[in-house]
Amino acid sequence: MAAMLLFLFIAGCESASDAAGTIEANAAEAGARTLGVGYAAVRVSPSQVHEGNLILVNRKYPIEESAMPNDIVKLAGHMERIPGIGLLDGSIRLSESLAVKFAAMTKAAEADGVHHFMINSGFRDMDEQRELYAEKGGSYALPAGYSEHNAGLSLDIGSSLAAMENAPEGRWLQDNAWKYGFVLRYPKDKTDVTGIEYEPWHFRYVGLPHSFVMKNKNMVLEEYLDYLKKERSIRVTIGDDVYTITHYPVPEEGADVAVPASGSGEYELSGDNRDGVIVTVKLPPA
Ligand SMILES: [Zn+2]
Repeated sequence: MAAMLLFLFIAGCESASDAAGTIEANAAEAGARTLGVGYAAVRVSPSQVHEGNLILVNRKYPIEESAMPNDIVKLAGHMERIPGIGLLDGSIRLSESLAVKFAAMTKAAEADGVHHFMINSGFRDMDEQRELYAEKGGSYALPAGYSEHNAGLSLDIGSSLAAMENAPEGRWLQDNAWKYGFVLRYPKDKTDVTGIEYEPWHFRYVGLPHSFVMKNKNMVLEEYLDYLKKERSIRVTIGDDVYTITHYPVPEEGADVAVPASGSGEYELSGDNRDGVIVTVKLPPA
């Protein structure tokens, strides 16, 4: 039975692959988003649309204050979290969980001989964003609530050697950040989609496997969320890890989503900050 399902699945899917992994439309699961064996229904409320690692925050979609992170720390007092990293100034704050993810990435860079990283900006609260906007104006800053820095999911990374566009740190991140769940949020070739000029320093955490798909398909978050909504479900293989990613619309009354019953896989749920949630399941090893 399992073998036959596997055959049907492979036969029914369009597949794109590169050296690092594969991305397939997951037609079987997308069809009805039905509960399969090993899955249970969980009720999602509309407020969950605005929380999680995949929320879109831009000129159109502000962050909800309730979704702002509650683990913000002043980095100067927590340098053990980010060993070897320079800080532009002592006031920079960051979500502690983001600092840990950033440190894992820069540790891997160090193993490649790239280690002149700086943090030039981290978390900004609403008052700080209001001040920045008043000071710099609409062409250079976003109003309070509309910046990813308010969501605690982004940071501006610099190099003490050169401007990021030319620095080894910038080049390393462009090639490798996806492996650690980060994406370059405002690429040079996507200014028409993001509405933001090229920022080789601004990285956003979305988590794996999303960073892989975005890198592989050359999509920014706006495009990626549209793609998930259209495909409804995709299946991603990275090395030995297999994931399904499913988008669910969430109307005012909420929605039921399928998640692994205990013991049959890990999952993460995130809103898109528009009109739905995304359930990412890491399938148990075959
Ligand atoms: Zn930034």
